Amino acid sequence: MAINMGKFNKPVHRRCRRCGRHTYHIRKKRCSACGYGASKKLKKTFKP
Ligand SMILES: [Zn+2]
Repeated sequence: MAINMGKFNKPVHRRCRRCGRHTYHIRKKRCSACGYGASKKLKKTFKP
């Protein structure tokens, strides 16, 4: 990994607990592969 050049210092993805992939987005708090962490369904969560 010599081509990092100072980028990628902040980890964006972590290992997902469910699928074990390295695709759990920390900021989004959701795995992009299996969808783990996303509040089940984006329904009935929004109240006006
Ligand atoms: Zn996952």
